[in-house]
Amino acid sequence: STVRKIAAGEVVERPASAVKELVENSLDADASRVAVAVERGGVDGLRVRDDGVGMTASELELAVEEHTTSKIRGVDDLDGGVESLGFRGEALYTIGAVSELTVRSKARGSAGAGNELTVEFGDAGEVRPAGCPEGTTVEVDELFANTPARKKFLKTDATEFDHVNTVVTQYALANPDVAVSLDHDGREVFATEGRGSLESAVLSVYGREVAESMVRVDEEPEPDAVASVSGLVSHPETTRAGREYMSTFVNGRYVTASVLREAVLDAYGGQLAPNRYPFAVLFVEVPPDAVDVNVHPRKLEVRFDAEGTVKRAVSEAVEEALLDH
Ligand code: ADP
Ligand code: MG
Repeated sequence: STVRKIAAGEVVERPASAVKELVENSLDADASRVAVAVERGGVDGLRVRDDGVGMTASELELAVEEHTTSKIRGVDDLDGGVESLGFRGEALYTIGAVSELTVRSKARGSAGAGNELTVEFGDAGEVRPAGCPEGTTVEVDELFANTPARKKFLKTDATEFDHVNTVVTQYALANPDVAVSLDHDGREVFATEGRGSLESAVLSVYGREVAESMVRVDEEPEPDAVASVSGLVSHPETTRAGREYMSTFVNGRYVTASVLREAVLDAYGGQLAPNRYPFAVLFVEVPPDAVDVNVHPRKLEVRFDAEGTVKRAVSEAVEEALLDH
């Protein structure tokens, strides 16, 4: 239906948004390995495989069903703003509405084979037994084949891949204890080892030169601090032409808060060459009630109540780290 397609378009704008939802599911499922593979930027297919808790046959059947039908009654409802619709619990269902979705899963510790279920553009097939290792593999093919308008909106394969890469990189950096890998057209782009240290994850994702230029940010949290800040930032000489290597996480969640990027850049003062940006992987912890992460469920924006104070805290922590170096 139209409504279903519109809803799906909000959750799944492009291959990277499907990848994001699937990787999140894998992490939620207690995976210690998450392997992402995409073809032609994900436009020609994408797969996320994990060694998480998996699903039984009946869980698999439920997983692709719509959980909150009553929330979407018609197109008009969308005018109220998608954030009110509670898209959580909808990811597999909505991806299945706009693709050929295959989920293969075996519950951890279960006997026998696993199970498989395919959803073709909203039509779910039967759950059947299928040999597979413990954990879950989700494959998405023919993405947007039934929504030409959405498909036309996609950019080049290279650009779509950049988005996928950004998403998988953020999850790899935020979860150094999970081995996260990304393959593109059969070639490995990166693979973290899941050894638990942020340094080792940065080494796997960005390479040795960058890893060796990284400086630890470790702010001593003062009793009345509004925010605690930790992570890694690069030495002012190790930069790139784009801002996409500045990753910020608030309370463990990847966000694109420009105020945080500005805070990082401020800390470098005049030390950066024009139009050059450092590498940063920064974790900011604030009391949950001091931040609004739900500006838009898909856009990863946040707002802080005390924006200026948070900005200053981040700037000072980074500045101190660069000075100490
Ligand atoms: P949500 O994650 O918000 O619950 P989803 O549509 O993303 O909604 O997933 C639906 C359900 O399917 C999940 O709640 C979970 O029970 C199950 N599921 C999805 N992906 C996995 C996975 N990789 N491993 C185990 N269970 C999964
Ligand atoms: Mg989910």
